[in-house]
Amino acid sequence: MNTPRTFHEAKARLASGAISVKALAQAALDRAKEHSRLNIFLELFEESSLAKAAEVDAKLANGTAGPLAGAIISIKDNLCYAGHRVSASSKMLEGYESPFTATAVQRLLDADAVIIGRTNCDEFAMGSSNENSAYGAVANPLDPSRVPGGSSGGAAASLAAGLCHIAIGSDTGGSIRQPASFCGVAGFKPTYGRISRYGLIAFASSFDQIGPLAHDITDAEMAYRIMAGTDPLDNTSSQRPVEEPSPGSGPLRIGYYRQCVEHPGMDAGIKAHFEAHVGRLKEEGHVVEPIDLPMADLFVPTYYILSTAEASSNLGRFDGIRYGHRSKTAKGVDETYRLSRTEGFGPEVKRRILLGTFVLSVGHYDAYYAQAMRVRRMVRDNTVRALELYDLVMTPTCPTTAFQKGHISDPVSMYLQDIFTVQANLAGVPAISLPTGTHGNGMPFGTQLMAKPFADLQLLAMAKRCFPQ
Ligand code: GLN
Repeated sequence: MNTPRTFHEAKARLASGAISVKALAQAALDRAKEHSRLNIFLELFEESSLAKAAEVDAKLANGTAGPLAGAIISIKDNLCYAGHRVSASSKMLEGYESPFTATAVQRLLDADAVIIGRTNCDEFAMGSSNENSAYGAVANPLDPSRVPGGSSGGAAASLAAGLCHIAIGSDTGGSIRQPASFCGVAGFKPTYGRISRYGLIAFASSFDQIGPLAHDITDAEMAYRIMAGTDPLDNTSSQRPVEEPSPGSGPLRIGYYRQCVEHPGMDAGIKAHFEAHVGRLKEEGHVVEPIDLPMADLFVPTYYILSTAEASSNLGRFDGIRYGHRSKTAKGVDETYRLSRTEGFGPEVKRRILLGTFVLSVGHYDAYYAQAMRVRRMVRDNTVRALELYDLVMTPTCPTTAFQKGHISDPVSMYLQDIFTVQANLAGVPAISLPTGTHGNGMPFGTQLMAKPFADLQLLAMAKRCFPQ
């Protein structure tokens, strides 16, 4: 069956009765099985998705269907869905079945979306290539010798392979936007606190944010509208009402960071494309100006100090007693803790726990953790100030296109993947990566736009104006 690529196209065809939700869901499941070699899905929810599809078809027939009726959605393997397994791509949670549903997932289901499966990711969302999954790497559907990015690599790949309309991911330092850039799709990280984190397996709680990846902004916006809004189950979710964008047609003020474009690691092809976009936006009448990026070299170190500190605390509960894998050979309590964690966690997660424990330890707390908290505050202030002067701040999403599997083995080089994306997480502002070009090597890459905190829908509206779909 020739199924529509985007949800908004499918919605029109469902309304005319040309296709059924059941047919859409079945086609997606079949296609996912055909592409099993890419290792995108850790599990397809065949039974529950087909049952939901039948239910939605009945609702469409009697006019009671919700706004996402017929949307075929994949969820990252760190989002809980009652009665379904969730593992954060870790041996630690192998076989764990969630007794409850994440608020974001529940809202999608309530809006009549069909969730077809859970996507592979880096273990506990730590990584930039999806190579840190305990269940094997994901191949980029556009070139299987390359990575799809990470940590929401399976999410981005599920779109690039045409397996669903919308993929739900999480973004702590760039995990929605970087894979979106590598796979040629749109990826949106909302303002921190805009979407409830209840039911998201925590990595770094003051950074984590759930968001949609989609083929275009329209679909991303539809999913965002359903998931956004306050939630009594997450006391960091914002009480502010979701703000409607103010319609505007006048010129936009867009700032871009010279340091990003001139970064030594910046690929020449991406740089040339970025400069061409700057030129085009100016010709279209927008004000596009280079701005300074104070403390840019501190972004990545600050993120890795604070996120590992939070991770070491969040992952403390996985000890084989309260949660997670329990060593079969351990004798006594101490050994149970030690061996369960040794066996259950992969090398990158262990590295982060060690780093986080170190920066929080009595002798080093002031020099690392407390200092990084101060730097974070300054980064946030600088970022928000720039976003008061400009409607949008624009950067390339990543300095390179998707790299070959196994190409980056040094953790510090891998951490530098996050160079342009972590700013939005440090500052808590909304940011989107849009697929804006194809490199000479045939791979896609994205442009990132950031806006003021809580101007999420405004950001999407402006993004559509700057990069018509
Ligand atoms: N690449 C970053 C990291 O490994 C971002 C991860 C994320 O956003 N979940 O921490």
